Amino acid sequence: MPESPEVQAFTEFIGERAVGHTISALKIFDHRVDKTRETSPEVVVAEAVTRVDRRGKYVDLATSGRHIVLSFGRHGWGVWHEPNVPSSPDHAVPVVASIEFSDGSRLDVTDAGDFRSAALWIVADPADVPGIAKLVPDPADPDFAQADVDSVTVRRRKQLKAVLQEQESFAGIGNAYSDEILHTARLSPTGHAATLDEAQRARLFAAMTAEIRGAIAARRGIPIAELKAAKVAAMHVHGRGDQRCPVCGGTIVDTTFAGASAQYCPRCQA
Ligand SMILES: [Zn+2]
Repeated sequence: MPESPEVQAFTEFIGERAVGHTISALKIFDHRVDKTRETSPEVVVAEAVTRVDRRGKYVDLATSGRHIVLSFGRHGWGVWHEPNVPSSPDHAVPVVASIEFSDGSRLDVTDAGDFRSAALWIVADPADVPGIAKLVPDPADPDFAQADVDSVTVRRRKQLKAVLQEQESFAGIGNAYSDEILHTARLSPTGHAATLDEAQRARLFAAMTAEIRGAIAARRGIPIAELKAAKVAAMHVHGRGDQRCPVCGGTIVDTTFAGASAQYCPRCQA
């Protein structure tokens, strides 16, 4: 599942290539991804892309009159095709939609999941997308503050790992970065948010900003086809069950709770 650092890099990659170009076609190949069926994809044809922004885990391609909003869900992503470069189709990953540009370039939206979770909206205002309307604090935002962490965690009887991934509480964090943040903060993924004291909440805030902003800086400029591998390589505990903790040398534990998996170091994250 792409999280904010990868979506930010995707956004910048597409922005550098698409802004200023006119959309020549928007094609929907799987109508399950089309969340605004009342709006014909034709409405964006001949419109120029003016900017591309990340909003949480969403990508917002603004045109002169509309917004094309993309969400990748669990297994969605994109493939960029440069103009006049023959592409070898990867039949293993279904293309669910594509946006063609006037210079001959193309963005394919893919979804490798059995259940379609990639989604596309065509809206007049990004806030017309339900997940964007309820915008919440984003640790990448310079205004993100300790108070944003405190207001979500104090008195919450919910496990920390789950709280971090709530898109209604914090924007952009998923399974991987929640593991990394909790390892940096030396907090157990299964501990309840309500049990954190002030010093622990301060560590959580510091870890959230450091991990997310650090990952955004590290992923910047990486081609979108290489982002997933770059993310996997950068993980210290996520996906590294039974390996050594890079901090203490102990063994990273792979655990499952509440239907989700987490990797953590029991020695560092007591
Ligand atoms: Zn450790």
